[in-house]
Amino acid sequence: MAGHHILIVEDETDIAEILRDYLVKEGYKVSILENGQKVIPFVRKQHPALILLDIMLPGMDGKTILKEIRTFSEVPVIMITAKVEEIDRIVGFELGADDYVCKPFSPREVVVRVAAVLRRAVGTARENRLSFGPVALDQDSRVVTVKGNQVNLTVSEFEILACMLARPGTVFSRARLIESVQGYSFEGYERTIDFHIKNLRKKIARYLPGRTFIKSDYGVGYKLVE
Ligand code: CA
Repeated sequence: MAGHHILIVEDETDIAEILRDYLVKEGYKVSILENGQKVIPFVRKQHPALILLDIMLPGMDGKTILKEIRTFSEVPVIMITAKVEEIDRIVGFELGADDYVCKPFSPREVVVRVAAVLRRAVGTARENRLSFGPVALDQDSRVVTVKGNQVNLTVSEFEILACMLARPGTVFSRARLIESVQGYSFEGYERTIDFHIKNLRKKIARYLPGRTFIKSDYGVGYKLVE
C-alpha cells in the first residue's frame, strides 16, 4: 500500500502533522488541507487514494464535503470526529464514509485503519474483468467482447463502457460519463457523450441485433439493460 497518496483534511495543525509523520514513515505520500473549501477541487484534480476527513472544519464542514465527494467519486474516506454522538450516523454509513476515528486517537491506530481501508478498496478496484450479459471488458488487455466477438472501441468508448459496466443498472448522467473519459466534467461537452454512446451502440448491436443494451433514460442519462 506504500506510495499511495493520502489527503488529510484537518485544521488542527498539530494533529494533521503527527498523522502525516506516521503515514510518511509507512511510505505514503501525504497532503494536508486545513480549509474545507479547498477539498473538492483538490480531490477532482489530484485523485488521492484515501482521505482522512475531519468533521469540524473552517470553510465547509466534513459532512457536507463527503456528500459532495460522493456525487462524483468512490474514494475511500475515513472520518475524524471529536463528537461521540456522531459515531452512530457515520458508522451507519448514512454519510458514505468507509470508517471513522474518534478524537483523541492514537496515530498508530489511524495508520492501521488506513491500511485496512486501502486494502479493501484496492481489492475491489482490482476487479479488472467486468461483464454484464453478453458484453465483457478486460481492463488489463483492454479487450471488449460481445457474445465472444471482439469489438474495437476508441479510448473514450472504452472508458464509458467500463464506467457503466462497473455498475450495471445504474443510470449515469452525461456529466458523470464525461468525467470517466476526461477525469473531470466540462459543461457543454455533454453532447459528445451522446455521440460516443451512438457509436458504442452501433458496435455492440452488430452482434446483438434488435436488442437494447444501452438504454436512454430521458433527461437523466444512460444505463445498461440486459
Ligand atoms: Ca477540526
